[in-house]
Amino acid sequence: MECRICHNADNNSEAIFTEYEIGLHEDFRYFRCSRCGCVQIAEQPEDMNRYYDPDKYYSFHCLERYKNRSFMERWIDKHYFRYGFWKKGKIGAILFLKEVKRVYWIAKLRWNAEASILDVGCGDGMFLHLMRDCGFKDLTGADPFIENEIHDGNITILKKDINEIDRKFDVVMLNHSMEHVFDQSTLVKGIYKVLKDDGIAVIRLPLFSDFLYQKFGKYVQSLAAPRHFYLHTLDSITRLFASANLQTVEIIQEPYLSGFMASEKIRAKETNTPQIHWQKLLPVYDEMCDKYKSDCYMFVLQKKTAIRPL
Ligand SMILES: [Zn+2]
Repeated sequence: MECRICHNADNNSEAIFTEYEIGLHEDFRYFRCSRCGCVQIAEQPEDMNRYYDPDKYYSFHCLERYKNRSFMERWIDKHYFRYGFWKKGKIGAILFLKEVKRVYWIAKLRWNAEASILDVGCGDGMFLHLMRDCGFKDLTGADPFIENEIHDGNITILKKDINEIDRKFDVVMLNHSMEHVFDQSTLVKGIYKVLKDDGIAVIRLPLFSDFLYQKFGKYVQSLAAPRHFYLHTLDSITRLFASANLQTVEIIQEPYLSGFMASEKIRAKETNTPQIHWQKLLPVYDEMCDKYKSDCYMFVLQKKTAIRPL
């Protein structure tokens, strides 16, 4: 098996990972590169639509849930997210202190409501709706797995791959979608192509965590076979970005307690053993955070400025 990121073919190890989330229990062969550490699926399954069943896959039901929030949830979200994006409002500030882990990454970036935003792999576009509710005006999403395109005021959601998009954006986001794309090299070139020269790309994704793998084995939630074709390492993802002339300007590790707890839930269900109470698991999670931080990362990228000869 040759690594599709660094092309090393020597001493790569293999493992079988299983589909758990929608309950198909099909097995898939993965391998790990001995050089860059990237974990990747051996072959792309023929029909991926089967693993994105609109009735079962969470990413197509977020908008429905968002629109059906209770009055109280709407009130909290309004203050909470407005503070996250714009750092305004006392109520938001208090909520943010309490719930900082929920959208830690939003507050780490400087946003502009006028900026053109592209959300690649946006699912049903829930996050774009949330951004519109917070004042953003130029919002586009792209996802090849949606059923129909959506044109709703200043939100456009295209049933397209990034390389079919014919426009440049100030901000290109991939919120936990990069690991779902088989051809990583074409994807990062596509990011470069749709990014304005002074734009930023915001890539959020899980990386492979040795700690989690030792703790939960094949039940680690972020393995998500076969939808996650890749779990990168810092080494492999840096090589990949560099191959498309994208440079990392910031790396932020995001706390991801729910992913940790979801792994325990899968482990308990699949091994028919009792689920360890989350309060008992918290010290283990804290230990991971102290030693290794989280397995979820945000990378902020810019185009490499062309080097001009003297
Ligand atoms: Zn490699």
